[in-house]
Amino acid sequence: MTASTGTWRIASADAAQAPVAVIGAGVMGAGIAQVAAQAGHPVRLMDLREGAAAAAIAQIGKALDGLVAKGRMERDARDAVLARLSPAASTAELADAALVIEVIVEKLEPKQALLRELDALLPPDALIASNTSSISITALANGMANPRRLVGMHFFNPVPLMKLVEVVWGAETDASAAQAIEALSRRWGKTPVHAKSTPGFIVNRIARPYYAETLQLLQEQAGSPAQLDRALRGAGFRMGPCELMDLIGHDTNYLVTQSVFEANFGDKRYQPSLVQKALVDGGRLGRKAGKGFYEGTPENAAPVAVIDGDVGAVTLSGRGPLVELLGDWMATRGLTFERDETADWQGVAVEGVQLHFTRGRCAAQLARERSQPGLAVIDWPLAPDRIEGMAIAFGPRVDNVQQTHAETLLRRLGWEPLVLRDVPGLAVARTIAMLINEGADAVWQGVCDEAGADTAMKLGVNYPAGPFEWLAQLGAPLVVDALAGLFEAYRSERYRISPLLRQRLWA
Ligand code: NAD
Repeated sequence: MTASTGTWRIASADAAQAPVAVIGAGVMGAGIAQVAAQAGHPVRLMDLREGAAAAAIAQIGKALDGLVAKGRMERDARDAVLARLSPAASTAELADAALVIEVIVEKLEPKQALLRELDALLPPDALIASNTSSISITALANGMANPRRLVGMHFFNPVPLMKLVEVVWGAETDASAAQAIEALSRRWGKTPVHAKSTPGFIVNRIARPYYAETLQLLQEQAGSPAQLDRALRGAGFRMGPCELMDLIGHDTNYLVTQSVFEANFGDKRYQPSLVQKALVDGGRLGRKAGKGFYEGTPENAAPVAVIDGDVGAVTLSGRGPLVELLGDWMATRGLTFERDETADWQGVAVEGVQLHFTRGRCAAQLARERSQPGLAVIDWPLAPDRIEGMAIAFGPRVDNVQQTHAETLLRRLGWEPLVLRDVPGLAVARTIAMLINEGADAVWQGVCDEAGADTAMKLGVNYPAGPFEWLAQLGAPLVVDALAGLFEAYRSERYRISPLLRQRLWA
């Protein structure tokens, strides 16, 4: 049967009281059951392991007690939520559910077997959802008599706190089923985003470069984990890539990377890193192992040695969004400078030393092409007031005096100079450009729309902005040029430019 909009019981007028079942009472299943019960549904929770469902409900009780203690929930409400939760011993007890959410182990065969069983058990107006984080919804639906009623409902951990739900469409998913899950997610206080079932869906796909570019930089000895983390925090990310990977666990992150890489038939864009593999092989799994990139938790970075006063002759050079950002910031910092809008490069000169905003080309290359020995490249100052450290790389002929002028200027701007090896695209620029590129490809391939990509990255992994917001801020010419520089430098398909970005440029 193909249900049209409104015929799913979970989408009916009294849907808030419709029974929901959750299968799998682990970390995610318990969180989902809690959210459903808080939204008013009677919830049956089931698990293969005996006692696991009851234990999860007891655990939810403790979480609700915490809310009561903080004054964020009334005791009566807490009792009512708990009264709506009950364990089930078998799937047969779930036959009256309007929605069953599968939250069991992340393996294809057991999930497929369970979904077939549910499909045979449930009446045709009941929906089935899977919380899989990496398995294709199309593959999961294979074998169901009614694959149209299977929808991916990808929550993020911890479920009660994280707002995002990726509503994932398999090849057979009925539009009305996905819309019903979207509406339900909103009623549960979540922000749903539609995604076509493709490897990594939205978040786990677009986020790959955040890790991959830093791992590539580490492999190239560009800088230390602490330097790279500091650079990326300055772009507004809450955690730098290395500290974040330490928190996630290198085993987990390596597995996700491998799964997306393999699912894309070995596309170099998603290639795992030897740096990551060495950490896993050596048992440096991150915080949970007490060691990863850092031993324990990373120390707070030393404060910037900010300086005030005169730093010599400063000229803001060229035009464009980065030049405007820097000009505004120099004014905020009370720095006197000249303006040369006609220059054929973008950046700032101090005492004749040119600091070019990186466009994916090395300082050495630019210095040679322009016959300008006093040349450095600097990173993109996306959020000047938040920058703790500014990545900079010097050309080979920069002398000590010139280097001091450049570093003094950065400190005058409130930024600690992070001197990296002269690699193309430095840290922030190559990461942001590649995040935009990945978001652009996801949209070009119909995985999600632009607003969906932005929302997913901001809510799923707390990014300070979404890829299309960065694109709007920076403009296609700069982003495409930076990617072209990286592509030219590495001659790797990894840095191929998304057709969507090229179209944007031509438009
Ligand atoms: P978990 O190991 O904590 O829980 C899985 C539970 O399922 C266990 O209690 C297990 O006993 C039970 N189970 C296994 N096979 C079963 C079956 N056939 N029938 C009934 N119960 C069964 O795992 P988790 O972290 O909660 O993940 C569950 C699902 O959610 C996976 O698909 C995972 O990819 C996905 N997910 C996890 C996260 C996360 O951060 N942990 C985030 C998003 C999605």
